[in-house]
Amino acid sequence: MSKRISITAFIAGLSIIAIVGFKPISHAISEMVKPAPVEQNVMGVIYQQRAAEYRALCFQAYNIAMHKIDDAAKGKKKNIKLAVITDLDETAVDNSGYAVRCFEEGHGYTDDSWNKWCNDAVADSVPGSVTFFKYAEKKGVTIFYVSNRSNAALAKTMEKMKRLGFPQVSEDHFKLKTTTSSKEERRREIAKNYKIVALLGDNLVDMDAAFDKAPENVRQHAADSLRMAWGDRYIVFPNATYGDWENALYMDYRKAHPEVKSISLDSIYAIRVRALKKY
Ligand SMILES: [Mg+2]
Repeated sequence: MSKRISITAFIAGLSIIAIVGFKPISHAISEMVKPAPVEQNVMGVIYQQRAAEYRALCFQAYNIAMHKIDDAAKGKKKNIKLAVITDLDETAVDNSGYAVRCFEEGHGYTDDSWNKWCNDAVADSVPGSVTFFKYAEKKGVTIFYVSNRSNAALAKTMEKMKRLGFPQVSEDHFKLKTTTSSKEERRREIAKNYKIVALLGDNLVDMDAAFDKAPENVRQHAADSLRMAWGDRYIVFPNATYGDWENALYMDYRKAHPEVKSISLDSIYAIRVRALKKY
């Protein structure tokens, strides 16, 4: 058992003891299970699908990216090749339908259901994305789709993106997850041959290694340290449904078993929400 899992189990255990006393763990868990943890995501998904603010934020992000391309193209020397690096999920591709599917099926994120979603190739595009990437291509900018989708999902991902109208959808433009989820190595490889105009993502690990597997306080400090990069080299998209911010709140939260997730949620409430600023 890894140290992380041990700590997770220990804190979860403390929560059980604090609330239900010294009952057998299995009994305690069944008493602790809250309404399906997937319900936590509902407002985030509604925001993504229905809030005009969500759409406005996406258009705003892509407008900034367009300005970045214009600026870079103006002073560009002939031998310099320009590129944009973009994440896929919740940056170029809208998977809110996956969250709805999970909700209807009564479970949270699972690798199996995610792989099925990718294979079904039914995702939509994020507002403004196709227009922006077509603009980038028109301006001679190379697009790199840097994603932690697996290589097994590449063919279906490309098929869907072609249907949605994304340009430069060929294998050489995709840098998917291989041995590590960190995107730093892939970014460095691209930067050897291209001048990176901007990096686009909904998760701060899409832009900077400072956020790789970082706890909450490190993430917040890094976001502050990089304050001049946001809306400049780094362009952020809204995602209120999931992200590394969840795992930073509570270790490996996103992929936790639903029962552990319910207990973890209690711990988040106990440890975090009570500690929120009330002003
Ligand atoms: Mg993403």
